Amino acid sequence: MTPTIRTRVAIVGAGPAGLILSHLLADAGIESVVIDQRSRREIETTIRAGILEQGTVDLLTAIDPGTRVHTVGQRHDGIELRVQGEGHRIDFPGLVGRSVWLYPQHEVLTDLLALRLARGQDVLFETTAVRVEGADTTTPRVIGTDAEGAGFVIDAEVVVGADGSRSVVRQAVAGSSRDGYFREYPFAWFGILCEAPPSSHELIYSNSDDGFALISQRSPEVQRMYFQCDPDTDPHALSEAEIWDTLQRRVPGTTLTEGPIFQRDVLRFRSFVAHELRRGRTVLVGDAAHTVPPTGAKGMNLAVADVVVLARALTALLADNDERLIDGYADTALRRIWKAQHFSWWMTSMLHTAPDASEFDRRRQLGELRSVVESESGRAFLAEAYTGWPFETGL
Ligand SMILES: Cc1cc2nc3c(=O)[nH]c(=O)nc-3n(C[C@H](O)[C@H](O)[C@H](O)COP(=O)(O)OP(=O)(O)OC[C@H]3O[C@@H](n4cnc5c(N)ncnc54)[C@H](O)[C@@H]3O)c2cc1C
Repeated sequence: MTPTIRTRVAIVGAGPAGLILSHLLADAGIESVVIDQRSRREIETTIRAGILEQGTVDLLTAIDPGTRVHTVGQRHDGIELRVQGEGHRIDFPGLVGRSVWLYPQHEVLTDLLALRLARGQDVLFETTAVRVEGADTTTPRVIGTDAEGAGFVIDAEVVVGADGSRSVVRQAVAGSSRDGYFREYPFAWFGILCEAPPSSHELIYSNSDDGFALISQRSPEVQRMYFQCDPDTDPHALSEAEIWDTLQRRVPGTTLTEGPIFQRDVLRFRSFVAHELRRGRTVLVGDAAHTVPPTGAKGMNLAVADVVVLARALTALLADNDERLIDGYADTALRRIWKAQHFSWWMTSMLHTAPDASEFDRRRQLGELRSVVESESGRAFLAEAYTGWPFETGL
């Protein structure tokens, strides 16, 4: 007999989307089971996103008033766009009355996991969903394997695919894991983590004649920096001296503080939105539903925004038998998803140089950058999107 777990909501994926959803459902008195193919240690140590929108921070604070985002995280009241060595600060509170927080994703996950376990709610680690059956029935089920490779089944009233960009749940919703609107970019980011003090207190997005670079931070001792590269670049092909030389040339006006590089990776850029976000009682959220290039720092925040809409819809469905919000889930979530897709595409195309860019393209791009940074309306448009629009609720 295959062991069967019964729950109201089966959540596949203990990333930001899955864990936040589990907390919002628990607060509404709805029981869920969360599974993740990774170990707890891997989830708590994988470095990914770093910038949280104001709405994300407000939500994390509502879930856990003691969240470390306010003690370990740092509020950033702006970013700098540097155009050919000229710095232009985008003052978030001055323009839109909001801010962002630098608080790494793995710290958010560490907090959310600890809270869920402290509240006596389980997370099944190293447990993999293989497929979803009965997606459009009232009793969808997750078929998977546990840490020992033994099969199991989760019978639920709703299955949520919060299983990231390589989602298996997407297959049950959209018919194929690749079914969606898609765009690939002809460049990538070469990212490093280094041991050094910060070179600047806020993020610098630098568009220079030598190419694009982003100077970001992680902590007083560790910094995150990126520069545009070819997607096929081997992250180990460059020496540390070559990496620092590239970064220094691409941020004219600042001498970056160098230090030992202890992690390097090449991050490809994709924009993707699944054609379908829901089939009956099986729903997609976060990277399972969409991917954005990282330039606008939207990926994790968009996952959180989906979950806010879905948690309300599931509460209405499972607590009050009201199907109206779940029927509207995709339309409501897609409004923000496409705004975020546009912003991420816009920041990416405005700041990077395509390999086949002509001299006209380069001069037009500088015109576009100046029309943003030299206009209060342009800066406000950027600040509003970067700090995050108010959450949609579907009401
Ligand atoms: C280098 C990098 C930098 C980034 N920077 C930013 C940033 O600054 N700001 C920002 O907002 N976003 C950023 N992002 C994007 C952000 O990390 C993602 O958008 C975010 O993690 C999405 O959350 P999620 O919960 O939807 O998916 P994920 O975080 O991918 O979580 C999915 C979970 O599902 C699990 N899983 C997958 N398949 C299965 C299965 N079959 N069975 C069980 N479990 C499964 C995975 O192990 C994983 O834990 C960045 C991403 C990268 C890679």
